[in-house]
Amino acid sequence: MTPQPPTTPAVNESPAPLSLDEAIQRDALDCVMCGICVPHCPTFSLSGNEADGPRGRISLMLGISQGDLLPDADVRRHLDTCLTCRACETVCPSGVQYGRLIDNGRARLAQAQTSAAQPRALARHWRLLRDQLLTRRRRMGAASGLYRAATRLGLGGLVRRLTGPLGRALPRHPATPSSQPGSTDTPTRGTVGLFVGCTGSAMNAPAGAAARQVMRAMGYRVVTPAAQACCGAMHAHGGEPAAARELRARNARVFSGAEVETIVVVGTACRAELGALETEHGIAVREITEWLLERASEEWPALGTLDQQVAVHTPCSQRNHLRAPGATRELLSRIPGLELVELDGNERCCGAAGLQALLYPDEAERLREPKLESIDRIQPDVVVSANVGCATHLAAGADLEVRQPVELIAKALAATKP
Ligand code: SF4
Ligand code: SF4
Repeated sequence: MTPQPPTTPAVNESPAPLSLDEAIQRDALDCVMCGICVPHCPTFSLSGNEADGPRGRISLMLGISQGDLLPDADVRRHLDTCLTCRACETVCPSGVQYGRLIDNGRARLAQAQTSAAQPRALARHWRLLRDQLLTRRRRMGAASGLYRAATRLGLGGLVRRLTGPLGRALPRHPATPSSQPGSTDTPTRGTVGLFVGCTGSAMNAPAGAAARQVMRAMGYRVVTPAAQACCGAMHAHGGEPAAARELRARNARVFSGAEVETIVVVGTACRAELGALETEHGIAVREITEWLLERASEEWPALGTLDQQVAVHTPCSQRNHLRAPGATRELLSRIPGLELVELDGNERCCGAAGLQALLYPDEAERLREPKLESIDRIQPDVVVSANVGCATHLAAGADLEVRQPVELIAKALAATKP
C-alpha cells in the first residue's frame, strides 16, 4: 500500500486543505453502518452485492485511506460503478456527505500505481473520447449533425450498431436545432449568461435556443460566450478534481468578462457542478428551471394553451444534488392545458449518470428499463427531463423525443401568437 502524499488536496476543501486520505476518513467515519441507505441504492438493487451499495463502498474507501486495503481491479469496479446519484445521501440519518466522499475516493484511485486500479473514466480511450469529442462543442456539433443526417436517410440504426457503446447512447430521434425567432422586446431587466454545455449544445440544441428565447421574452439580455468550457462534471466524478477546478476557473473568467449578473445553465447536472462557482468565484449560478421559478409573476409573458400529456422525469442531479424534486412540475404547471404525469420510479437513477452510460452500458440499460416501461404504460405526448444526459439516455431507448422543460415554456409562448 502506497501512503497518500500529505500535500494532495481533496475536492471541495477549504480553507486548510486535507489530504485525500484525511478527507475520505473525515466523511467515511461519519457513517454508523446502519444500512438505511442500502435499499435506496440502484446499483445494489442490480447486483445484490453489499460492495455495490453505499455502505460497502464507504468501507472500501475507508480501508484504502487507512492503508488496510489495496485498490485492485475488483475494488475499482465497485467504486467505479457508483452512479453518484446521491440517493443514499438524502436518506442518511447521520448526514454522511457521500457525494464528496465518492469523488475523493475516485481521486484517490486515480493515484493508484496500476491502470487496473484506476477509474475506468481514466482509461486512455475514454479520456481521449471525453477530451477530444464530448467536451468539444464544435466537434460534438459536427458529429451530431452527421448523425442527424444519417438518421434522416434511414441510416441511424446502422450508425448506432457500428459505434459501440457510443452508438448505444445515441437517441433514436435526435433533436433538430430550430431557428426560433428571438423576442423583439427591448431587454430592460438585466444581462444573463447562458451556459449551454458541451454535449447539451450538440445533443439538445433546441433547449438552448428555447432558454434564450424565453429569457429574452422576459426582458433580459442573453449572452452566450463562445469561449465557455465544459462544466467539469465528468472530470470531478471521474477522479480528476484538479481538471474540474481548472474548467470552472475558465468559465468564471469567461462569464465574468461578459459582465453577466447570473449564469443560467441548461441542464441540472452542469448546474450542480457549476454551483461551486458561487463559493469559489462569487458568481450566481442557476439552472433555467430554477431561474424561471425565481422570477416574479409580473415578469412572465402570457403563455398559450398546450393540450398535451407530459411525463415528467426527475434527474438525480435535480432531486438529490439541487434538492428540487418538484421544480419541473411547478414550472410546467404554469402552462394552461398541460396534463403532467410523474414517470414511475423517479426516485431511482435512470442509469445515464454522466459517462456511466458509456462506461457501463449494460448496467445503464438495465436501470433505464423501468423508465421505458413507464413511458410505454403512460403513452405521453412528450417526456421532459431537466438534465441533458438523462434526456439523451432515455431517448436512446424510447421511441420519442425527450424535451427540456424550458422547450415547453417556449412552445407555450409561441402558442399565444396568431
Ligand atoms: S450515489 Fe447512488 S449508486 Fe452510488 S452508492 Fe449512493 S445510491 Fe448507490
Ligand atoms: S444511511 Fe448513512 S450512516 Fe447508515 S450506512 Fe448509509 S451512509 Fe452509513
